[in-house]
Amino acid sequence: MSEVVIIGAGVIGTATAHALVQRGITDITILDRDSVGSGGTGKSAGIIRCHYGVTSIAALALCSREFFENAAEIVGTDIGFEQVGYLVGVGADNVEPFRASLANQRSIGVETLEIGHAEVKELWPTAHLDDFATFCLEPGGGYGDGYATAQALATSLRGHGVTIRQGAAVAAIVSDGDKVTGVKLADGEVVPAGTVLVAAGPWSMPLLSPLGIELPIAPAFVQEVVIDPGMDLGAPPVFSDLVSMQYVHMRGGEMLFGNSSGQGSVRPVTDPDVYPNHATNEAIEATAEKAMHRFPGIEDPRVSTTSTGVIDLTPDNNPIISATDYAGLYLAVGMSGHGFKTAPAIGRLTAELILDGETTIPNVKASDFRLSRFAEGDLLVSPYVYKGAMGIR
Ligand SMILES: Cc1cc2nc3c(=O)[nH]c(=O)nc-3n(C[C@H](O)[C@H](O)[C@H](O)COP(=O)(O)OP(=O)(O)OC[C@H]3O[C@@H](n4cnc5c(N)ncnc54)[C@H](O)[C@@H]3O)c2cc1C
Repeated sequence: MSEVVIIGAGVIGTATAHALVQRGITDITILDRDSVGSGGTGKSAGIIRCHYGVTSIAALALCSREFFENAAEIVGTDIGFEQVGYLVGVGADNVEPFRASLANQRSIGVETLEIGHAEVKELWPTAHLDDFATFCLEPGGGYGDGYATAQALATSLRGHGVTIRQGAAVAAIVSDGDKVTGVKLADGEVVPAGTVLVAAGPWSMPLLSPLGIELPIAPAFVQEVVIDPGMDLGAPPVFSDLVSMQYVHMRGGEMLFGNSSGQGSVRPVTDPDVYPNHATNEAIEATAEKAMHRFPGIEDPRVSTTSTGVIDLTPDNNPIISATDYAGLYLAVGMSGHGFKTAPAIGRLTAELILDGETTIPNVKASDFRLSRFAEGDLLVSPYVYKGAMGIR
C-alpha cells in the first residue's frame, strides 16, 4: 500500500512528488508505462516565461522560475536552464492587449520592460524589425530542458525513498464506491493507494472514462523546425514574434522554431501514440518562409532537423488541476502545450490540493483550474487576447 500513487513520470508527476516530499510525504509510487520524461516532457521546447494574461498562470510561472533558478541546490543537479531572457514583439493590432497584460504581470511581481527597436536590434542583429510596433523583454525568462528536469527530479525523489516504476502501465483506476483504492497494472497487479493522482498527459482520458469522468482533452501533435544559421548568433533571448506568429530560441548554436498561432503546426490526433515523428513539408515550408522574412541577416540557413511531440489541449488551453467526485482521486492534466514552465508550481499546487484543499502560492486561485469549469461554461481565458495567437499568452 502506498500513501500516494502517481500515474505518469513526466515533469508534472515528478514535480508533484517533489512537492509532496517537501511536505514530508515520501510513501509515494510513481508508475510510468514507458520511462521518466518519455512523454511530452522529453519533446518540449522548454521555453520559460511569465508572459501570461491569466493571472494564476503568470503567478505559477513566476513561482516555478524560483525552482529553475535554484534547481542545482534544490534537486542537486543542473537542469539546463539558460536564462537568456524572453523577448516579445507585437504588431500595431496587438499593442493594447500587450500593454494591459504587461501591467497585470508587473502587478504580481514579474519584471518585464517595454523596449524599442534599437534595443532589440542589439539583441538580434540579424532580424528585420520594421513590422513590429513594440517589444518587451522579460530578463528572467529563457529556456530549459524538460527531459533533464524530469530526470533530475526523479533522481532526487529516489534519494528520498520514492519508488519510480518504469515500464509499469496502468490499465485501470480501482475504486470502492466513491473512494479510490489504488490502480491495476496492465499485467493484472494491483497497487493499492489511499490517493491516486492522474498525470498521464494526453493518455489520461481512457483511465478516467470508466469512472464516468470525461476529460475535455484533445490530443494534438506539435511540430518544430531546427535551422542551422551557418553563423554564430551568440545567446540572444528567446524571441516570441507575434507578427509572424512564431517563436525561436537557440539550442546548441542552432535555431529552434515553433508556431505561435497553432494554425497548421498543431494538428489533432485520435491516438496520442500515432503521429509523424518529423514535421510535415507544409510546416517546414511555412517555417522557412517566416524565418527568411524575419531573419534576412542570416545568409546561409538550412533546415538541420525537425521534431514533433504530442500535447493535451483543453477547450481554454489551460490545465486541469482538480479534485474529483471520488475521494482520493486527483487530476493534473491538460497542460495544453505549456506545462513545462509552470510544472514546479503546478506540482506544489497539486500537492497542496491533496493535503490542504487550497493553495498558498501567491496570486494563484486553485479553483481557476477545477475540472467543473468546462461544464459550468466558466473558461479560464486571458482578458488580454492577442489577435491571431494561440490562447496560451
Ligand atoms: C513539441 C513540444 C514543445 C513544447 N514546448 C513547450 C515550451 O516551450 N514551454 C512549456 O512550458 N511547455 C512546452 N511544451 C509542453 C510541455 O512540455 C508539457 O505540457 C509537459 O511536459 C507535460 O508534462 P506531463 O507530465 O503533463 O505529461 P507527459 O510528459 O506527457 O507525461 C505523461 C507520462 O504519463 C505516462 N503514461 C501515460 N499513460 C500511462 C499509463 N496508462 N500508465 C502509466 N504511465 C502512463 C507517459 O509514458 C508519460 O511519461 C511543449 C510540448 C511539446 C510536445
